[in-house]
Amino acid sequence: MNSSSVQVQLESLAKLQEIDRQVDHLQKKKSDLPTAIKELDQKLEALTLDEAKKSAEKTEVEKLFKQTQAAIEINQDRMNRAAQRLEQMENQTTFMAANKEVEQLKKLASDLDVQKAAHLAQQYALNMACKEIEEKKSALLSERQATLEKFSEEEGVLNQDIQQLQAGRNGFIAQVDRGTLARYDRIRSARAGLGIVPAAQGRCMGCNVLIPPQMYNQLHRSQEVMSCPSCARILFIPKIQ
Ligand SMILES: [Zn+2]
Repeated sequence: MNSSSVQVQLESLAKLQEIDRQVDHLQKKKSDLPTAIKELDQKLEALTLDEAKKSAEKTEVEKLFKQTQAAIEINQDRMNRAAQRLEQMENQTTFMAANKEVEQLKKLASDLDVQKAAHLAQQYALNMACKEIEEKKSALLSERQATLEKFSEEEGVLNQDIQQLQAGRNGFIAQVDRGTLARYDRIRSARAGLGIVPAAQGRCMGCNVLIPPQMYNQLHRSQEVMSCPSCARILFIPKIQ
Protein backbone atom coordinates (compact mmCIF):
# COMPACT_ATOMS: atom_id res chain seq x y z
CA MET A 1 0.00 0.00 0.00
CA ASN A 2 1.18 3.53 -0.63
CA SER A 3 1.11 6.33 1.86
CA SER A 4 -2.62 7.01 1.44
CA SER A 5 -4.80 5.08 3.84
CA VAL A 6 -7.33 2.62 2.48
CA GLN A 7 -10.15 5.00 3.40
CA VAL A 8 -8.55 7.86 1.44
CA GLN A 9 -8.00 5.54 -1.50
CA LEU A 10 -11.60 4.39 -1.48
CA GLU A 11 -12.93 7.93 -1.24
CA SER A 12 -10.63 9.01 -4.06
CA LEU A 13 -11.82 6.09 -6.17
CA ALA A 14 -15.45 7.02 -5.53
CA LYS A 15 -14.75 10.59 -6.65
CA LEU A 16 -12.81 9.32 -9.63
CA GLN A 17 -15.79 7.24 -10.55
CA GLU A 18 -18.09 10.27 -10.44
CA ILE A 19 -15.81 11.93 -12.99
CA ASP A 20 -15.57 8.78 -15.07
CA ARG A 21 -19.32 8.49 -15.18
CA GLN A 22 -19.66 12.08 -16.33
CA VAL A 23 -17.09 11.39 -19.02
CA ASP A 24 -19.06 8.27 -20.06
CA HIS A 25 -22.18 10.38 -20.29
CA LEU A 26 -20.46 12.96 -22.49
CA GLN A 27 -18.90 10.28 -24.69
CA LYS A 28 -22.34 8.76 -25.15
CA LYS A 29 -23.72 12.18 -26.14
CA LYS A 30 -20.85 12.56 -28.57
CA SER A 31 -21.50 9.20 -30.17
CA ASP A 32 -25.21 10.05 -30.51
CA LEU A 33 -24.47 13.19 -32.50
CA PRO A 34 -23.90 11.57 -35.92
CA THR A 35 -27.26 9.77 -35.68
CA ALA A 36 -29.10 12.80 -37.07
CA ILE A 37 -26.73 12.91 -40.02
CA LYS A 38 -27.14 9.19 -40.63
CA GLU A 39 -30.91 9.63 -40.69
CA LEU A 40 -30.63 12.47 -43.20
CA ASP A 41 -28.32 10.35 -45.36
CA GLN A 42 -30.85 7.54 -45.35
CA LYS A 43 -33.60 9.92 -46.46
CA LEU A 44 -31.36 11.28 -49.21
CA GLU A 45 -30.55 7.78 -50.37
CA ALA A 46 -34.25 6.88 -50.54
CA LEU A 47 -34.96 10.03 -52.56
CA THR A 48 -32.12 9.29 -54.96
CA LEU A 49 -33.52 5.80 -55.54
CA ASP A 50 -36.98 7.26 -56.12
CA GLU A 51 -35.51 9.79 -58.52
CA ALA A 52 -33.80 7.05 -60.53
CA LYS A 53 -37.06 5.09 -60.67
CA LYS A 54 -39.03 8.12 -61.87
CA SER A 55 -36.36 8.93 -64.42
CA ALA A 56 -36.59 5.38 -65.82
CA GLU A 57 -40.39 5.74 -65.99
CA LYS A 58 -39.97 9.05 -67.83
CA THR A 59 -37.72 7.41 -70.42
CA GLU A 60 -40.28 4.66 -70.90
CA VAL A 61 -43.17 7.11 -71.32
CA GLU A 62 -41.13 9.17 -73.79
CA LYS A 63 -40.51 6.04 -75.81
CA LEU A 64 -44.24 5.19 -75.81
CA PHE A 65 -45.06 8.79 -76.72
CA LYS A 66 -42.76 8.64 -79.76
CA GLN A 67 -44.26 5.31 -80.81
CA THR A 68 -47.78 6.71 -80.54
CA GLN A 69 -46.75 9.84 -82.43
CA ALA A 70 -45.28 7.69 -85.23
CA ALA A 71 -48.46 5.58 -85.31
CA ILE A 72 -50.55 8.77 -85.57
CA GLU A 73 -48.49 9.93 -88.54
CA ILE A 74 -48.75 6.57 -90.30
CA ASN A 75 -52.47 6.50 -89.64
CA GLN A 76 -52.87 10.06 -90.95
CA ASP A 77 -51.05 9.06 -94.10
CA ARG A 78 -53.31 6.06 -94.54
CA MET A 79 -56.38 8.21 -93.99
CA ASN A 80 -55.24 10.72 -96.61
CA ARG A 81 -54.69 8.00 -99.15
CA ALA A 82 -57.99 6.32 -98.32
CA ALA A 83 -59.80 9.66 -98.68
CA GLN A 84 -58.21 10.18 -102.10
CA ARG A 85 -59.26 6.72 -103.19
CA LEU A 86 -62.77 7.42 -101.94
CA GLU A 87 -63.09 10.39 -104.24
CA GLN A 88 -62.20 8.25 -107.22
CA MET A 89 -64.70 5.48 -106.43
CA GLU A 90 -67.38 4.75 -108.95
CA ASN A 91 -68.58 1.36 -107.86
CA GLN A 92 -70.96 1.33 -104.90
CA THR A 93 -69.50 -1.84 -103.32
CA THR A 94 -65.91 -0.65 -103.41
CA PHE A 95 -67.09 2.74 -102.20
CA MET A 96 -68.73 1.10 -99.17
CA ALA A 97 -65.58 -0.87 -98.39
CA ALA A 98 -63.34 2.16 -98.73
CA ASN A 99 -65.70 4.24 -96.63
CA LYS A 100 -65.62 1.59 -93.94
CA GLU A 101 -61.81 1.66 -93.99
CA VAL A 102 -61.86 5.46 -93.56
CA GLU A 103 -64.19 5.09 -90.60
CA GLN A 104 -61.90 2.48 -89.01
CA LEU A 105 -58.87 4.71 -89.55
CA LYS A 106 -60.71 7.65 -87.96
CA LYS A 107 -61.58 5.51 -84.96
CA LEU A 108 -57.93 4.46 -84.66
CA ALA A 109 -56.85 8.11 -84.94
CA SER A 110 -59.16 9.03 -82.09
CA ASP A 111 -57.84 6.14 -79.96
CA LEU A 112 -54.28 7.18 -80.69
CA ASP A 113 -55.09 10.77 -79.69
CA VAL A 114 -56.46 9.51 -76.36
CA GLN A 115 -53.30 7.45 -75.91
CA LYS A 116 -51.12 10.44 -76.70
CA ALA A 117 -53.01 12.59 -74.21
CA ALA A 118 -52.53 9.90 -71.57
CA HIS A 119 -48.77 9.86 -72.23
CA LEU A 120 -48.63 13.63 -71.95
CA ALA A 121 -50.49 13.50 -68.65
CA GLN A 122 -48.06 10.83 -67.40
CA GLN A 123 -45.11 12.94 -68.49
CA TYR A 124 -46.52 15.94 -66.69
CA ALA A 125 -47.10 13.95 -63.49
CA LEU A 126 -43.59 12.47 -63.64
CA ASN A 127 -42.02 15.88 -64.23
CA MET A 128 -43.88 17.26 -61.24
CA ALA A 129 -42.81 14.28 -59.10
CA CYS A 130 -39.17 14.73 -60.17
CA LYS A 131 -39.32 18.42 -59.38
CA GLU A 132 -40.75 17.64 -55.95
CA ILE A 133 -38.00 15.08 -55.30
CA GLU A 134 -35.39 17.61 -56.36
CA GLU A 135 -36.80 20.22 -53.98
CA LYS A 136 -36.89 17.72 -51.11
CA LYS A 137 -33.31 16.68 -51.84
CA SER A 138 -32.12 20.24 -51.90
CA ALA A 139 -33.86 20.98 -48.56
CA LEU A 140 -32.34 17.84 -47.03
CA LEU A 141 -28.88 18.77 -48.25
CA SER A 142 -29.13 22.20 -46.62
CA GLU A 143 -30.40 20.57 -43.44
CA ARG A 144 -27.50 18.11 -43.57
CA GLN A 145 -25.00 20.94 -43.93
CA ALA A 146 -26.53 22.84 -41.00
CA THR A 147 -26.59 19.68 -38.87
CA LEU A 148 -22.97 19.00 -39.72
CA GLU A 149 -21.96 22.49 -38.64
CA LYS A 150 -23.94 22.20 -35.42
CA PHE A 151 -22.47 18.76 -34.88
CA SER A 152 -18.85 19.90 -35.08
CA GLU A 153 -19.64 22.82 -32.79
CA GLU A 154 -21.27 20.55 -30.19
CA GLU A 155 -18.51 18.02 -30.56
CA GLY A 156 -15.96 20.72 -29.83
CA VAL A 157 -17.78 21.72 -26.64
CA LEU A 158 -18.10 18.10 -25.52
CA ASN A 159 -14.42 17.45 -26.20
CA GLN A 160 -13.51 20.46 -24.09
CA ASP A 161 -15.72 19.27 -21.22
CA ILE A 162 -14.25 15.79 -21.43
CA GLN A 163 -10.72 17.18 -21.37
CA GLN A 164 -11.50 19.27 -18.31
CA LEU A 165 -12.98 16.29 -16.49
CA GLN A 166 -10.04 14.12 -17.37
CA ALA A 167 -7.64 16.74 -16.05
CA GLY A 168 -9.58 16.64 -12.79
CA ARG A 169 -9.07 12.86 -12.53
CA ASN A 170 -5.34 13.17 -12.05
CA GLY A 171 -5.57 14.52 -8.52
CA PHE A 172 -7.60 11.49 -7.46
CA ILE A 173 -5.50 8.99 -9.37
CA ALA A 174 -2.44 10.09 -7.36
CA GLN A 175 -4.21 8.93 -4.20
CA VAL A 176 -4.90 5.40 -5.39
CA ASP A 177 -2.66 2.33 -5.61
CA ARG A 178 -1.90 1.26 -9.17
CA GLY A 179 -3.15 -2.25 -8.48
CA THR A 180 -6.41 -0.97 -6.98
CA LEU A 181 -6.84 1.42 -9.89
CA ALA A 182 -6.39 -1.39 -12.39
CA ARG A 183 -8.88 -3.49 -10.43
CA TYR A 184 -11.37 -0.59 -10.46
CA ASP A 185 -10.95 -0.07 -14.24
CA ARG A 186 -11.39 -3.76 -14.93
CA ILE A 187 -14.56 -4.11 -12.87
CA ARG A 188 -15.99 -0.85 -14.12
CA SER A 189 -15.74 -1.86 -17.74
CA ALA A 190 -17.22 -5.29 -16.97
CA ARG A 191 -19.97 -4.04 -14.65
CA ALA A 192 -22.00 -1.34 -16.37
CA GLY A 193 -19.77 1.58 -15.45
CA LEU A 194 -19.55 0.94 -11.72
CA GLY A 195 -16.26 -0.31 -10.27
CA ILE A 196 -16.78 0.90 -6.74
CA VAL A 197 -20.06 0.99 -4.84
CA PRO A 198 -21.09 1.88 -1.31
CA ALA A 199 -22.13 -0.73 1.19
CA ALA A 200 -24.97 0.10 3.53
CA GLN A 201 -27.18 -1.80 5.94
CA GLY A 202 -25.18 -4.95 5.36
CA ARG A 203 -25.67 -4.94 1.64
CA CYS A 204 -23.71 -4.17 -1.50
CA MET A 205 -25.44 -1.19 -3.11
CA GLY A 206 -24.24 -2.36 -6.53
CA CYS A 207 -26.01 -5.72 -6.64
CA ASN A 208 -28.04 -5.53 -3.41
CA VAL A 209 -26.73 -8.83 -2.14
CA LEU A 210 -26.11 -9.27 1.62
CA ILE A 211 -22.47 -9.07 2.62
CA PRO A 212 -21.31 -11.70 5.17
CA PRO A 213 -21.38 -9.98 8.61
CA GLN A 214 -17.71 -10.60 9.32
CA MET A 215 -16.72 -9.01 6.04
CA TYR A 216 -19.04 -6.11 6.67
CA ASN A 217 -17.29 -5.48 9.99
CA GLN A 218 -13.91 -5.61 8.27
CA LEU A 219 -15.15 -3.10 5.71
CA HIS A 220 -15.87 -0.66 8.52
CA ARG A 221 -12.28 -0.95 9.69
CA SER A 222 -11.01 0.05 6.21
CA GLN A 223 -7.79 -1.89 6.47
CA GLU A 224 -7.81 -3.34 3.00
CA VAL A 225 -9.57 -2.90 -0.33
CA MET A 226 -12.41 -5.43 -0.44
CA SER A 227 -14.77 -6.55 -3.16
CA CYS A 228 -18.37 -7.68 -3.09
CA PRO A 229 -18.38 -11.50 -3.13
CA SER A 230 -21.33 -11.42 -5.52
CA CYS A 231 -20.62 -8.69 -8.12
CA ALA A 232 -16.87 -8.20 -7.47
CA ARG A 233 -17.22 -4.43 -7.22
CA ILE A 234 -14.94 -2.65 -4.77
CA LEU A 235 -16.90 -1.77 -1.64
CA PHE A 236 -16.63 1.25 0.59
CA ILE A 237 -18.49 2.57 3.58
CA PRO A 238 -19.50 6.17 2.84
CA LYS A 239 -18.45 8.52 5.64
CA ILE A 240 -21.24 10.54 7.13
CA GLN A 241 -20.41 14.08 6.16
ZN1 LIG B 1 -22.25 -6.51 -5.15
